[in-house]
Amino acid sequence: MGGSLINLAYLVSAVLFILGLKGLSHPRTAVRGNRLGALGMLIAIVATLLNQNIISYALVLVGLVVGAFIGLLMALRVQMTAMPQMVALLNGFGGIASALVAGASLIETTLPEVIPPVPLLQLTAATAASGIIGAVTFWGSLVAFGKLQGIITENPLQISSLHYINGILLLGAVGLGVMLTLNPTAVGYYWTLLAVASLVGLLLVFPIGGADMPVVIALLNSYSGLAAASTGFVLNNNALIITGSLVGASGIILTTIMCKAMNRSLRNVLFGVWVPSEAGPKAEDVYAGKVKATSPDELAMLLEGGRSVVIVPGYGMAVSQAQHAVRDLMQILEAQGIEVEFAIHPVAGRMPGHMNVLLAEADVPYNKLKEMDEINPRFEQVDVVIVIGANDVVNPLARTDPNSPIAGMPILDVDKARSVVVIKRSLSPGFAGIPNPLFSADNTLMLFADAREGVQGIISALKAK
Ligand code: NDP
Repeated sequence: MGGSLINLAYLVSAVLFILGLKGLSHPRTAVRGNRLGALGMLIAIVATLLNQNIISYALVLVGLVVGAFIGLLMALRVQMTAMPQMVALLNGFGGIASALVAGASLIETTLPEVIPPVPLLQLTAATAASGIIGAVTFWGSLVAFGKLQGIITENPLQISSLHYINGILLLGAVGLGVMLTLNPTAVGYYWTLLAVASLVGLLLVFPIGGADMPVVIALLNSYSGLAAASTGFVLNNNALIITGSLVGASGIILTTIMCKAMNRSLRNVLFGVWVPSEAGPKAEDVYAGKVKATSPDELAMLLEGGRSVVIVPGYGMAVSQAQHAVRDLMQILEAQGIEVEFAIHPVAGRMPGHMNVLLAEADVPYNKLKEMDEINPRFEQVDVVIVIGANDVVNPLARTDPNSPIAGMPILDVDKARSVVVIKRSLSPGFAGIPNPLFSADNTLMLFADAREGVQGIISALKAK
């Protein structure tokens, strides 16, 4: 396949990637977007296989089969709640693959009679960039995986001056990259650079608490794209440059959205230590004598008297896998002429789009899912809000307590509804580790139960009427 045909194929795949990303921006077009992206990837892979002087197609096939088998197994077996760590692993492997391919290309150019695909200066500089970013991504992602999987402690590693040490190490890695650029045949610089950058990756993520890992993973996703783009410059491969840049850009956009929804800066996530606040009200003061527990029967009566119900899912719904029961509840209420909608907070759960994915899995129609800005002005007209395993995203302290760790975080204003029902197992705090005055508000009833069992209890009570 000629060079211009290959580039045409790469251009087609790049256009498909962009159309795919655009499709992914809306639930209705997401499946088509995913297919367009997959088609783009297929075209890029086929063009690459036809283009390069492949040493052994059999070896490539073995790699494809083994990789596809492991990937398929992981995708089928992973629990929805373990999705963030799976993404972390995938990012990490992407990063290290980029670094190793760039390194292999560097070694190849030192062989006699090999003509580098790009000018030597571009090759070495891009290899150094790929090595640094790829190694940081790999080791950072492994630590993120370990923290979320409970293999290593979630607690942030607190060593004074760690960030300075890391800064010096990063400068050292860049220095080694410069040395490599000046001495392209001294491959030893590359391996040392990889070792130093690996340390940077470890020390970057160890000091960050487990709860901030999803943001870190989004950032590392962006890094894995940048590593791939750098390797694209090493191999003179336009598809890799474009794809890597798209991943890099979308990862950083996602990181920004997550930080904004949590009202935190990226600097604060990366360099600040997130500890539950000692300031602010104590749980005893917020709850003592004011919390009203309820039962499924009582709730069934309350729901039957209402005309509009808004369901607010949170992390607890994911933990108890209550989405199917929630869908059943929606159908039963609708059959009684009650209007049911879902209010989705952008950081409800533990990963972006967590609630959307779970509710889609249970076939809840997408037009029933309302974003925060759309639903917030309407809560005053809602008869009953059912909060299912959500806590921080409905905590009014974000509006009222400037010292709270969630101060300023946009929340769902469920406290403004006529009645609020909260289903959770206890008065335990959520991710931010702070009490929630919503649970002791005059218009709130608490159903202390596992989310799925609680919802099923309400369904049985409604059916028994
Ligand atoms: P929270 O973490 O605030 O609260 C979850 C609540 O679920 C807990 O209070 C817990 O209470 C309850 N729960 C746990 N298991 C069950 C169960 N089996 N049945 C019923 N309830 C259960 O969740 P939110 O979704 O409200 O907020 C998400 C938080 O995570 C935010 O602070 C956000 O900033 C943060 N975050 C989100 C990310 C994202 O991308 N979505 C990324 C990083 C952080 P109890 O133990 O009493 O049952």
